[in-house]
Amino acid sequence: MIRYYSTNNKNYLVSFKDALLSGLAPDKGLYMPERFPVYDQNKLMEKDFRNLATYLAKLFIEEEIPEDEIKNICYDAFNFDVPLKRINDNIFILELFWGPTCAFKDFGARFMALTMSYFLKKINKKIKILVATSGDTGSAVAKGFYKVENIEVVILYPSQKVSLLQEKQLTTLGENITALEVLGTFDDCQAMVKEAFVDKDLNSRLNLCSANSINIGRLIPQSFYYVWGYNRLKYLLNGIEPQLIYCTPSGNFGNLTGGLFAKRMGLNVKKFIAATNENDVVPEFLFTGKFNPRPSVTTYSNAMDVGNPSNFARMIDMYTKDNSSYWENMKKDIMGYKVSDEETLDTVKKVYEKTGYILDPHSAVGYKAIQKFKKDNESNNFNFIFLGTAHPAKFMDILEDKLGIKVDIPSQLQEALLKEKKSIKIKNIYSDLKDFLLQTK
Ligand SMILES: *Cc1c(COP(=O)(O)O)cnc(C)c1O
Repeated sequence: MIRYYSTNNKNYLVSFKDALLSGLAPDKGLYMPERFPVYDQNKLMEKDFRNLATYLAKLFIEEEIPEDEIKNICYDAFNFDVPLKRINDNIFILELFWGPTCAFKDFGARFMALTMSYFLKKINKKIKILVATSGDTGSAVAKGFYKVENIEVVILYPSQKVSLLQEKQLTTLGENITALEVLGTFDDCQAMVKEAFVDKDLNSRLNLCSANSINIGRLIPQSFYYVWGYNRLKYLLNGIEPQLIYCTPSGNFGNLTGGLFAKRMGLNVKKFIAATNENDVVPEFLFTGKFNPRPSVTTYSNAMDVGNPSNFARMIDMYTKDNSSYWENMKKDIMGYKVSDEETLDTVKKVYEKTGYILDPHSAVGYKAIQKFKKDNESNNFNFIFLGTAHPAKFMDILEDKLGIKVDIPSQLQEALLKEKKSIKIKNIYSDLKDFLLQTK
């Protein structure tokens, strides 16, 4: 059985179940697997994504969840396509945005929700998930937990500070999902949620649980599509072994860490490119060796506006070996590039004009970072895959206003737009949140 340690204390080991249900270790460290299972490449070819995910998930959790349940979870969680498409020459996009909320976060959110539900049913326990969102995370989490048994979800979002589409995605689900429209900012929402988690009185009366991106249950499935992308590429190259470089548009670096997991599991990837917008603390670290977290700045790729990436602790952990410097070790695997807002829009425009492919601003940061890498390095022998993290329709206002590019809206987003918004307005004070939580207990 693979156990999970805290990045603050390697001797503190827990099961997958406990790591999943607690989110953060008691010492505030992030959970990491004590070892990485190595997969057998021969068992992977010819399989569809759900079979591949089932096989890989089993390597992590088969001692804690029976095989047929793991299969059910993966079939439920990943019931959409994960296509790899050639953009031009040796650059490919792995489209991770065909899930229910049209962003890659669907992979992690759905897998986490279903594994949590499995354990909760077994011990006959109910929990309440509390999340603050500035837009995108909330909808992936909400959709991930939608109609999942034994779990109630309460989402706090700042009134009038999310896009129409985002608000619809948060507020039209109903069932076990409640949207609290907070008359305040995202920071207010986050502060209220934090206060709830440290309120002893409240926690003695409710089983509160967090579902933010540091949960190991969201990270593990994010390694699966890196393995899948490699296989699809090999298939497109008629079976020739790709010399692969992955490029990941990054904010909290959970997505990139999923790639690092895949490499430890045996994936043959030559390098990772960490692509960021102006919030470039990690590229800066890779360049200078100094990690300097700071408040984030707002950009067009707003889901990557992170000034202090939470998964950096995991990256340090993975590259700390004996007496060598983790900076030196990390640099061997990861190159960092930052992309400005201006470059982002210019990239969307140029790629569209040249190929007809419409990139969303986040994915465009990934494409541009590859171009920067190619300028700096001899790259003819390589193939590049960048991760398409969001469907362009999610950012249609920017694409239309700034570039005049019209985007077709996929059915899952259209559906939300047609439904009626249902939210409960509360003030940006903690006692209002607490009253609400206790009254709906
Ligand atoms: C969350 C998000 C990212 C950044 O992913 P991290 O795991 O936080 O690095 C990139 N693009 C989109 C569209 C996202 O929603």
